[in-house]
Amino acid sequence: MTIIPLPAFRDNYIWLLRAGACAVVVDPGEAAPVLRYLADEGLTLAAILITHHHPDHVGGVAELLALAPVPVYGPALEDIASIDHPVGEGDVVRLPGLGVELRVFDIPGHTAGHVGYYGESALFCGDTLFAAGCGRLFEGTPAQMFDSLQKLAALPGDTRVYCTHEYTLSNLAFAAAVEPANGAISERIAASEAMRAQNQPTVPFPLSGEMLTNPFLRTHEPAVIRQAETQAGRSLTSPVEVFAALREWKNRF
Ligand SMILES: [Zn+2]
Repeated sequence: MTIIPLPAFRDNYIWLLRAGACAVVVDPGEAAPVLRYLADEGLTLAAILITHHHPDHVGGVAELLALAPVPVYGPALEDIASIDHPVGEGDVVRLPGLGVELRVFDIPGHTAGHVGYYGESALFCGDTLFAAGCGRLFEGTPAQMFDSLQKLAALPGDTRVYCTHEYTLSNLAFAAAVEPANGAISERIAASEAMRAQNQPTVPFPLSGEMLTNPFLRTHEPAVIRQAETQAGRSLTSPVEVFAALREWKNRF
């Protein structure tokens, strides 16, 4: 299986999984980039995976289905009309045509029913975990998002994370504000700037690097706790409180 980024909108990635003549897409917010790639490569669409209901993740589904009626897998807990295979925690999706199995995780926080898919050392986590960051809390609580991120962080370190936005440099700027003395963050900024200068995606990225550079996964670190407390103007007594303070700060960063 090969995984290809199809840039969409301003900074989205639609992920296309391909093997032989078959393809599966994750979060097709628009149909045009998918249709163009399928035509150019002579591929047949075999299925669609959805992580959550936001328009930049589902907007292209109807147009794709009009041309090829394929199974659509997506969160059972969200109201998405096109889903005919609702999935949730513990389900296994066998991707037709690709010979690949993906395990489903419930990862609420960004939206109430957000799911992720994991298999073959690849994690498709939508807008939950970003490189050096995490999604905004539109529908969930800080505790939910914290638990979702911890669930993803428990996956093997060699997991490659396929999130759906190119937010890496702005997230790293925030990470550097949280931990100015963290050398892993400055190294990652330099590496990511070099990639972006060549118009390369910074996604996917290895999960192991997140533990060193993602402030939302470093809520146990004394330096992170101190900065979060300074920003919140009070003492914070749990990792979830630290997480919530960081997320609020990031919203106005
Ligand atoms: Zn979203």
